Amino acid sequence: MAPRQDDAIGEALGKIGPRLLVKGAFLAYFVFISIRLLQFRAWALGTGDFVPRPEAVAGLLPIGSYMSFFLWLKTGFFDPVLPAGIVIIIGALATSFVFKRGFCGWICPVGTVWDASAWLGRKVLGRDNYRFPRWLDLGLRGLRYLLAGLFMVWLARVSIAEAMSFQQLPYYAVVDAKMLLLFGAPVYLAVIALAFVVMMLLGNVWCRYLCPLGGVYGACGVASACTVVRDPAVCIDCGKCATACHAAVPVDTLKSVRAPECDGCQDCVRVCPAEGALTARLFGRFRFRWWMWPLGVTALWLAIFGIAVATGHWHSQLPIEVFGQFMRIPGL
Ligand code: SF4
Ligand code: SF4
Repeated sequence: MAPRQDDAIGEALGKIGPRLLVKGAFLAYFVFISIRLLQFRAWALGTGDFVPRPEAVAGLLPIGSYMSFFLWLKTGFFDPVLPAGIVIIIGALATSFVFKRGFCGWICPVGTVWDASAWLGRKVLGRDNYRFPRWLDLGLRGLRYLLAGLFMVWLARVSIAEAMSFQQLPYYAVVDAKMLLLFGAPVYLAVIALAFVVMMLLGNVWCRYLCPLGGVYGACGVASACTVVRDPAVCIDCGKCATACHAAVPVDTLKSVRAPECDGCQDCVRVCPAEGALTARLFGRFRFRWWMWPLGVTALWLAIFGIAVATGHWHSQLPIEVFGQFMRIPGL
């Protein structure tokens, strides 16, 4: 990728691969805290040393977390059991409203795994990932937004009493560890391996067509404060931006990328050979360097995390002994 518009920082980051660097770091952190949660579980079951219980694995529980999120919006009651789930949702929504689908593009560890499968597919097969015919692409994307909308309406309609009682279930308190164990079961490993191979062949179809949360964040990203903007007066119509776009956005025909599929990856900006033709901008006006985009996503994410920790909205209010008791319940 030719760093035509890069300054020294952009050039250095471009050589390492900015997505590999940022998403890789978030994925590595997620793997680390997942191991820590399993170690905590081992301690609770009396088979290991004590380690503090990590909170961020709650990000694996979108149904329970969105239920708690809507309960908070309706009543002001902030989930005391797995509060990190609400904080992660706030972070994902905030990064989407400011940096397109910034959460999907630069943070989500699940998306990173599927991006890796698509990348491996390109390397192994020696060609670009398959792109669906336009009619099918539009149909599948439309279906994804419909399902995302229905999913949100369903969760928002859960009654206050039901959402409250769900939070009091022992199952809810330990479901993050249960999910991790489930992913390690042979049948789930087989499904994950199959999905990996499918995405090697077809590209990251999970993030593009299937993930309902990506649909929610994509819809928020339409109103994003930051966008990629093309200046037709400077553009030389080489089409490199559209070819580089993994989200199949026709960047070379647009003035401003409002497409919900855009996750702000900045590949189009980085590949553009005409200085000033394609730029990252705030409110469509104020130009900034492409590398400030992932920096901004990360800074906003960490700021929300920091505020949550400082105000007591990150760590569970449940004593760790209670988590331990719940984990020892047969079947949990
Ligand atoms: S290449 Fe450009 S248009 Fe495509 S997803 Fe990345 S930032 Fe958005
Ligand atoms: S915006 Fe840049 S990469 Fe895209 S067509 Fe114009 S000159 Fe080429």
